[in-house]
Amino acid sequence: MNKNSVVAKKQFGQNFLKDQSVLHKIIEAMPKNDNRLVEIGPGLGDLTKFLVDVKSVEAFEVDTDLCKLLQSIFKEEIATKKLHINCGDVLEAWKSSLVDEPYDLVANLPYYIATNIILKALADPMCKNILVMVQLEVAEKFCAEAGDKVFGSLGIITQSVGEAHIVVKVPPTAFDPQPKVDSAVFLIQKHCDRSDEDFEGLLRVAFKQPRKTLMKNLSSVYDKKLLQEIFEELQLSLTVRPHQLGTKDYHQLYNKIK
Ligand code: SAM
Repeated sequence: MNKNSVVAKKQFGQNFLKDQSVLHKIIEAMPKNDNRLVEIGPGLGDLTKFLVDVKSVEAFEVDTDLCKLLQSIFKEEIATKKLHINCGDVLEAWKSSLVDEPYDLVANLPYYIATNIILKALADPMCKNILVMVQLEVAEKFCAEAGDKVFGSLGIITQSVGEAHIVVKVPPTAFDPQPKVDSAVFLIQKHCDRSDEDFEGLLRVAFKQPRKTLMKNLSSVYDKKLLQEIFEELQLSLTVRPHQLGTKDYHQLYNKIK
């Protein structure tokens, strides 16, 4: 098998990035540090080729056909330990940390599990920065600010651990085969690890029905009288919608309810 004879497997979310200008933008946006690089889903190795020029890479690829192809393309890099390929499902390999030293995740992610992967990376104490391509809609949720229509749990969890911004928006024509949706590369620079599960439980309740008031959502689980007292103390309007409060407000609310 060679690169040209590969038929993309839909079940693995295979949309190979072909646009060289986007590949260059990903490399330019990489944080400068001594962390190891982790790539999830190297695919045909188009991004990997640039990554191994910068630093050594730990790669995770589920497709055994592609693993064999990558092993032949990168024979030299594997022999000189610039690249190590783990063949299998990354989610199964991921315990509390994906690798045992500080790393930055740089990847064009498989979209069907992209949110799950990013949330795991946010919780992983060894992961320091996340530079990934995902569906545009998903990138916008992670990078949203309070007041934005799409501001919700993903934006709050991200802001609780660091800063995020979109690096570049990418049209379907940059890929082969072309996905049906627009994509974006975005960067999260972590300052700490993902917040505790109880805080995220509160967020799930707060955004249960995003168009309803925050009070209505929260009072489906928490005592309404207590909530009214807390809202008054924090000077929050009883009619505020969940997306209108900022990350700091949610932490204050959580600390009071706790
Ligand atoms: N990095 C390549 C590129 O930019 O052209 C390929 C990106 S493609 C969107 C996603 C890649 O993730 C595919 O190679 C696919 O086989 C791989 N993949 C899908 N699910 C995976 C999983 N659970 N664990 C590891 N790799 C996975």
